[in-house]
Amino acid sequence: MTDNAHIRAVDPDVANLIDQEIQRQRDVLRLIPSENYASAAVLQATGSCLTNKYSEGYVGRRYYQGQDYIDGIEGLAIQRAKELFGAEHVNVQPYSGSPANLAVYLGLLNPGDGILSMSLPHGGHLTHGWKVTISGQYFNAVQYGVDKDSKRIDMDQVAAMAREHKPKLIICGASAYPRIIDFAAFAEIAKEVGAYLLADIAHISGLVAGGAHPSPVPYADVVSTTTHKTLRGPRGGMLMCKSKHAKAIDRGVFPGLQGGPHNHTTGALAIALKEALQPEFRDYAAQTVRNCQALADGLLTHDFDLVSGGTDNHLLLVDLSNKNISGKIAAKALEKAGIVCNANSVPFDTRKPFDPSGIRIGTPALTSRGMGPDEMHQLADWINSAINLPDDETALSEIARSVKALCDQFPAPGI
Ligand SMILES: *Cc1c(COP(=O)(O)O)cnc(C)c1O
Repeated sequence: MTDNAHIRAVDPDVANLIDQEIQRQRDVLRLIPSENYASAAVLQATGSCLTNKYSEGYVGRRYYQGQDYIDGIEGLAIQRAKELFGAEHVNVQPYSGSPANLAVYLGLLNPGDGILSMSLPHGGHLTHGWKVTISGQYFNAVQYGVDKDSKRIDMDQVAAMAREHKPKLIICGASAYPRIIDFAAFAEIAKEVGAYLLADIAHISGLVAGGAHPSPVPYADVVSTTTHKTLRGPRGGMLMCKSKHAKAIDRGVFPGLQGGPHNHTTGALAIALKEALQPEFRDYAAQTVRNCQALADGLLTHDFDLVSGGTDNHLLLVDLSNKNISGKIAAKALEKAGIVCNANSVPFDTRKPFDPSGIRIGTPALTSRGMGPDEMHQLADWINSAINLPDDETALSEIARSVKALCDQFPAPGI
């Protein structure tokens, strides 16, 4: 249980807002696929004295004194990540997923080098070379997408673009792609054209750790991830790579991009990795996917159009074009019904990114609460009702009351 007594004594305004956020996280169905519930142990480490310590450098090679225990903590995090993912080298210092990717570019590329990555509107991530970001402005990125019919990554297009553009780096990994990614096929293409392969598993690292999605670790030069999505740790980032890239990657993170590591996050990550090494975490990963498939089945019975027809992982992309409602209006109606997701572009979307045609929904947080297929079918019915009646405030608050009653049966972990 979170005790905000100290915060309340100093700053009742912030204490009240935190309390309200706790209540929100308890009372609604959180379907944003990048979100989760970290455990109480992870939250406690995040709020610990480790935040007070500076420790620029790496284990055994620090620039300041007083590192006996920090080295122990960072060493444990690295050792557990190696064990969990089978990685040759691990860097646990990236502040989050975006700086982790930037550190890879800094470590392996020169400004102006070519990148081949997945297009943002087809499910890729901003940091993979999209023009508004530093990754798109300092490097020459070209983008592959999904096939117009199957909505699956078009590996023929990836191969053709790799041969044509000869990128120095190929990136696979996505934020809104519901299917398995074929890391071996990407590695073969990268090898053929002499490119490095970066697999960004920010969304799916918990599924990979739990054996519910194939691992890129044997195939990719570098694997980047966040630590707070399906991996269920603190907000942070992590890089794994082949030993031959260890120096370049470590230098890319520090001193290339960052100063002192966030030791409170490293401590919390070490704990989350220990949790992910337990057999129950494999059950969690498998159940997250099963729940997502149950939710897909439920939505299909209500004639929802799922991008690619369904899912292999923790998320679904729903194209609402056939429902005569935009993603933004649907997401707002759902929020009034206690169901929180985000509007999302769908591949080949004809609407603008701020109010796109789809919504993105995922099951990592609900599965952490212990929900199963029965709850997913109930949820599909509620989603259908809310999207059919987006202006009916009474109907939406009626659903929100039922949602809260369901949430009360499945207490939110950690809070
Ligand atoms: C979430 C995400 C990131 C960025 O992570 P932040 O921690 O938000 O910076 C990077 N890549 C992918 C594929 C993601 O989904």
